[in-house]
Amino acid sequence: MLSSSTALIPQTLHLWYPGALDHRIEGPGHGHPPRRRQTSDGEGQVSRESTEGSRSGDRDGSPSPRVITSAWFFLRTKVAGSVVYLAAIYLFHLCKAKPPLPLAPPSAVRLAVEVALGLFLYDLFFTPVHWAMHNGPTWLKSIHVVHHEAKGTLSAGATVRHSLADGSLQVLVNIAVQFMSPWGAKHALSRFVHNLAVTWLLCESHSGYDLPFMSHRLFPGVIGGAPRHNDHHNRGNVFYQQFFVYLDDTVLAPRLNAAQ
Ligand SMILES: [Zn+2]
Ligand SMILES: [Zn+2]
Repeated sequence: MLSSSTALIPQTLHLWYPGALDHRIEGPGHGHPPRRRQTSDGEGQVSRESTEGSRSGDRDGSPSPRVITSAWFFLRTKVAGSVVYLAAIYLFHLCKAKPPLPLAPPSAVRLAVEVALGLFLYDLFFTPVHWAMHNGPTWLKSIHVVHHEAKGTLSAGATVRHSLADGSLQVLVNIAVQFMSPWGAKHALSRFVHNLAVTWLLCESHSGYDLPFMSHRLFPGVIGGAPRHNDHHNRGNVFYQQFFVYLDDTVLAPRLNAAQ
């Protein structure tokens, strides 16, 4: 639910961020100039059709139908899904009362350490799972196929395009790291910020944008971000880490080189 809602930000970026489409990652790899298509008089015309995910379904270059298609897609799939998700939580808490939140806030150091550690551990634990979904047995590979149907230049909606098993593995890893803290129990505020950060980073990496304020630009050489994950979706055998680059550039690098 949080992912679907957060995905709306990068998904609608072209509507409210000036010049956003100039920063779209083009197809496999990134940094290529916008694709050109031939007009009736033979002149090359910049096309934005590749700026939408391969499943967006809008390829006529007209902005209005694209907006309508995009809005309807989110209303139908994401907003409706969020309503069902919230209703399920409401029903759950009718049966089991939610425990009270701690009144004392965490220190700034504790908040920073718990959130940073949570992101590091999520990435560390999910990377081998993700690698196995590409290089493991067929049954394991099969649960990741749906997510890789999103190719070309990604759109943020691809964040939540996955099989139930695939999404469940991500959620289980996330739940596990939410219990890990040098202070024993992870503070509720740290868990909340962790969920916001994980969700944003996932939506960002599926956004198909290479913008100056994005995490891979703010922390070059540390976070791989959208360019790497866009490449992963198209090539499949590169850049398995969700957030960082250190495993992809070290222990997974020989496999990458061998595969090329
Ligand atoms: Zn993958
Ligand atoms: Zn992905």
